[in-house]
Amino acid sequence: MSRPSLTDRLRSAATERASAHLTRRLRVVEAVQGTRVTTGGRELLNFCSNDYLGLAQSLEVTAALQESAAWLGVGSTASHLICGHHREHAQLEEELADWLGYSKALVFGSGYLANLGLLQALLGKDDLVVQDKLNHACLLDGARLAGCELKRYPHVDAESAERQLQSRPQAAAMLATDGVFSMDGDLAPLRELSAIAKAQGALLHVDDAHGVGVVGPGGRGSVAASGLTAREVPLLLVTFGKAIGTYGAAICGPTDVIDALVETARPFGLTTALPPALAAATRRSLSLIKNEPWRRFKLAALIARFRRGARQLGLPVLDSSTPIQPLLVHGNVEALRAAQALQARGLLISAIRPPTVPEGRARLRVTLSSAHSESEVDQLLDALGGVLKDHLTPPRLPKSLTR
Ligand SMILES: *Cc1c(COP(=O)(O)O)cnc(C)c1O
Repeated sequence: MSRPSLTDRLRSAATERASAHLTRRLRVVEAVQGTRVTTGGRELLNFCSNDYLGLAQSLEVTAALQESAAWLGVGSTASHLICGHHREHAQLEEELADWLGYSKALVFGSGYLANLGLLQALLGKDDLVVQDKLNHACLLDGARLAGCELKRYPHVDAESAERQLQSRPQAAAMLATDGVFSMDGDLAPLRELSAIAKAQGALLHVDDAHGVGVVGPGGRGSVAASGLTAREVPLLLVTFGKAIGTYGAAICGPTDVIDALVETARPFGLTTALPPALAAATRRSLSLIKNEPWRRFKLAALIARFRRGARQLGLPVLDSSTPIQPLLVHGNVEALRAAQALQARGLLISAIRPPTVPEGRARLRVTLSSAHSESEVDQLLDALGGVLKDHLTPPRLPKSLTR
């Protein structure tokens, strides 16, 4: 039998990853208390969570989850189209659409599923989707599931996006971009992209997983931050697992599109509905975001403090105004070493390596939260300054070897 073995192939790929310092292992979190996590028996100050507003552990949000679960149970017990669509889902959808200025919203199990479902439902094999090269992987996978043509333009290069759309003027097309880029923290040029989408007759979709709750007036995300509305950006993804602090996602859009997603998006219809108690917790969290803007203001002040300090220390921090503050390092090994050195100093910061980021763009991805204190940010700067000296700059040659 000469058939190749699937498991042998898997093992040799793992060996190759190990030799390129690309192995990934799970870390077990034993306890969480605000910005402190316990892992491996050690308490660390956490700078890698996406809980930008500290809502994941808020008493109000956890109480809403418990109260709703006591009343409705944990599982939704069925898909939305059977009997899993509860009033909590419907109310959450209404509140989201209303807050963000869209006609209608539809809740999905996660942001990943929502993008898969949206692209699969809208695009077919003769169609085109044009995307930023640094878009989240689920937008790329959505194009694969749809079976359409995928063209990717260089990061935030709106002119290239336009050329790619122009290359197939007869094809039905979508232009899709992250609002805030998850690994770089920068914002998409939404005003330019919306003008291009309009001129080219393409449907614009913005994945605002890292924008909603954090950027823009009222925390309404990158579309609002760009002074745009549902008219210019007809489709919007909101995820609940980041600033909102819960789990799940929603697509906002025109009524007819949302109604069609209900019927045709397979990652919506063929999976168990989000637990209704999570929808209740998400509603509570949204009301905190709307009514208590201090978290967003405090976060902005911490971001400014971090960037000031980073500039003074000469840290290789990327140009980002969001809570995602990445520091580029020379390579995969350096990223791992720096993360280990930071851990030894009591800080949890993730080393992000390919394929999550392009080859040669390994980094430390620092994320800030309104739950952090000023002194915790100072502690982070101190540690980064020390680690930069020890690990991020190339080792100096001994005097005897320089000339
Ligand atoms: C996290 C993320 C997603 C996926 O959302 P989940 O709800 O975690 O599945 C999608 N797009 C972007 C840009 C993200 O950062």
